[in-house]
Amino acid sequence: MITFERVSKRYEEGHDALKEVSFQIERDDLVFLTGHSGAGKSTLMRLIMLMDRATRGKVLIDGRDLATVPSRGVPAHRRDIGVVFQNHQLLFDRPVFDNVALPLVIRGYDYREVGRRVRASLDKVGLLSKERAMPLTLSGGEQQRVGIARAVVCKPKILLADEPTGNLDPDLSAEIMQLFEEFNRVGVTILIASHDLALISRLRHRILTLKDGRLVTGGAL
Ligand code: ADP
Ligand code: ADP
Repeated sequence: MITFERVSKRYEEGHDALKEVSFQIERDDLVFLTGHSGAGKSTLMRLIMLMDRATRGKVLIDGRDLATVPSRGVPAHRRDIGVVFQNHQLLFDRPVFDNVALPLVIRGYDYREVGRRVRASLDKVGLLSKERAMPLTLSGGEQQRVGIARAVVCKPKILLADEPTGNLDPDLSAEIMQLFEEFNRVGVTILIASHDLALISRLRHRILTLKDGRLVTGGAL
């Protein structure tokens, strides 16, 4: 589903953020991505989302070489990928419902379909009763679950999460990871960047470790 073949990424200043990175993530896998700050985790995710392009090597998503996707094809590419951020990036002046509905509204779904899908998504993250709540009245864990509901509302094949538990205490972090495992069980391919080694080691999924842009564990094609 996600294949990196000797991928390097060099930013303009000449610094290699990724060096010859190779790995393969199968459909239905849940994989963690770890490494120190600056190791290249965000860069790797940005390449998958086509927020940036590899300098060398190949990135294939669902068999498609991303080098063949022209700029105008980027929005369609991103449609199949849900993204969860550490800081939620919620609209704080809009209720939960509107936040989760946003990707559907952008895609032009009619309002009945929006309502149906938003409620299905909120139900999956256990927040059906909060659809009218404003984000600031929710706990940190609940806000993160709103972010996850928004990421899955378009039923993406791939879910990327960048430090999704970065601001949460250990119990809430474990709950959020369980939620990702549930989405994984219904067929979503998931890549989660996290530096919380204690938490991710316990969960027994494959771990890719980056060190200064090189993949040091979990890679072998
Ligand atoms: P991580 O997510 O593991 O903290 P990043 O992928 O954000 O790592 O960063 C990897 C390296 O690339 C760091 O040295 C960072 O400063 C650098 N970097 C990231 N984005 C850019 C950019 N847009 N321009 C230049 N350097 C960047
Ligand atoms: P994150 O790692 O969560 O994306 P950052 O604060 O590292 O957050 O990066 C925010 C933005 O700045 C990103 O678009 C990233 O690519 C860019 N960036 C990160 N490091 C550098 C850098 N050294 N030089 C220029 N841009 C950078």
